[in-house]
Amino acid sequence: MAGLTSTPSAPLLIEGCAIATVDASGREFERGHILVDGGRIAAVGAGSADGIDQTRPVRRIDATGCLATPGLVNTHHHLYQWVTRGLAQQSDLFGWLTELYPIWARIREEEVSAAVGAGLGWLALSGCTTTTDHHYVFPAGAGDLFAAEVAEAARVGLRFHPVRGSMDLGRSAGGLPPDHLVEDTDVALAATADAIDRFSDPAPGAMVRVAVGPCSPFSASERLMREAAALARDRGVRLHTHLAETVDEEKYCRATYGCTPTEYAERLGWLGDDVWLAHGVHLDSDAIGRIADTGTGLAHCPSSNARLGAGVAPVRELLDAGVPVGLGVDGAASQEAGQLVAELRQALLMARLRGGPTAMAAREALVLATRGGARCLGRDNDMGSLEEGKLADIALWRVDGLGHADIADPVAALVFGAPAPVELLLVGGRPVVERGRLTTVDERDLLHRARRAAARLRA
Ligand code: ZN
Repeated sequence: MAGLTSTPSAPLLIEGCAIATVDASGREFERGHILVDGGRIAAVGAGSADGIDQTRPVRRIDATGCLATPGLVNTHHHLYQWVTRGLAQQSDLFGWLTELYPIWARIREEEVSAAVGAGLGWLALSGCTTTTDHHYVFPAGAGDLFAAEVAEAARVGLRFHPVRGSMDLGRSAGGLPPDHLVEDTDVALAATADAIDRFSDPAPGAMVRVAVGPCSPFSASERLMREAAALARDRGVRLHTHLAETVDEEKYCRATYGCTPTEYAERLGWLGDDVWLAHGVHLDSDAIGRIADTGTGLAHCPSSNARLGAGVAPVRELLDAGVPVGLGVDGAASQEAGQLVAELRQALLMARLRGGPTAMAAREALVLATRGGARCLGRDNDMGSLEEGKLADIALWRVDGLGHADIADPVAALVFGAPAPVELLLVGGRPVVERGRLTTVDERDLLHRARRAAARLRA
């Protein structure tokens, strides 16, 4: 498979692999082909490709021993946290945040670039083709952090949905973050508008699309939440925030706003089919009903929820109610592994711990990580399944090694098994990973920059 990077524009034919299309009817092929042309999928089907235009050269990839799936979509992350991993190891969310805020307050452009590069490289190596990044830490004088992350994503080559986050509710105003780490409300809103205007691409096939995301009920004011929602709707971009992650947050909302987190969100215009929420761990049946009725999406982050001891989200109930559910690795400071493919297994295991062995099937976990994520990001016309006309965002997994080969069902091998090596990762037809190695950036360079940045922040 060597040399793919050198000629990215010629049509590419992937042959001989198992294929899970994850389309609406769940079509799978034991042995099939995918034709990629012009950054999109030109054909996908069983057996060998026929009817291919013989007048143009086609590069063929023998993908025997692999499973092809749509590239995975990560719906919740805080990439900057890559350089503050391994801290506050036994804290709950509020204790963890309180310990980390002062360290995050030292972050500058250089650390953000290093963290984003490392986090994205690691995501690519775990089969992720599209990721969001909810960035809400903007210390005074830190530089243009949002521009830095967008530039780094372009370098790594992943499709990017950065969320311009914000916090304006400091400790003296009843919030959790220290006052010196929050922004003035008007400054945050203006910077959010600026981020949309500079970077968001509304076109089909966009590589960068910006969303709007005040951080949480305990770090963003009501005014910021309301006006951020109005801004997003005025600009036609999506909304993202944390909601119902912990019991402490529920207590905070009841004490401060006199209602549950979901009621609070609805009151502020934060439920809707242009909103996706992170976590949703503590939701009663009323809340699930309101989230479903409004078409609001949910980013499920099972490893992070477990790491912080937050609880297990009612994913079965959310799916049964018709909520679009995607998977998120969440920030690396509360989920040091940071691998998206591992979250399929984690989601399945936690759903079963809560609801028994039928609570989630392997193929449902794969749907969450692909089509479910694409729905959360409003991109399901463009991505999330392997279908003719969709973007050529494709993960090719090696399932013929010691860890997977004797599991006859390749989807079960991917979900129940150890994280499978990525043989090839295409983003819009462009290889980002080949044979388990990044092709766009130097992995050692990512490692050294991240290590330096982490050391600087701890110093
Ligand atoms: Zn988060």
